[in-house]
Amino acid sequence: MPYIVAEPCIRCRYTDCAEACPVDDCFKLGKNFMVIDPETCIDCGACEPACPVNACLPEDEVPEKWQKYVDLNARLAKDWPGINRNIGPLPEAEEYKDIEEKFEDLSEDPGEDVGDD
Ligand code: SF4
Repeated sequence: MPYIVAEPCIRCRYTDCAEACPVDDCFKLGKNFMVIDPETCIDCGACEPACPVNACLPEDEVPEKWQKYVDLNARLAKDWPGINRNIGPLPEAEEYKDIEEKFEDLSEDPGEDVGDD
């Protein structure tokens, strides 16, 4: 059962999770969001405590209000570039970290290619 990234990540995108994850390119970077590739996630749980806004959670613990994020992670993971390190949050993270409803702000555009180092 893979982990997924849910709504708190939108417009924050801290990226600490990518550094904590032991699997190469399991995290994928979008313009203002990240997702986990369910095909490669090994369910280790390392990302969960790494996220400052508690956006990473196991698929079987996703609350009803965030169920759409299960399919969203799987779909966007196919198109977005992998990320394996912490590149810091988005500039507006502090402003958006406590906002609960941000789904309409989610961009499906891929993030920048950050390379391996
Ligand atoms: Fe990576 Fe482990 Fe989180 Fe899956 S559960 S995304 S393998 S850190």
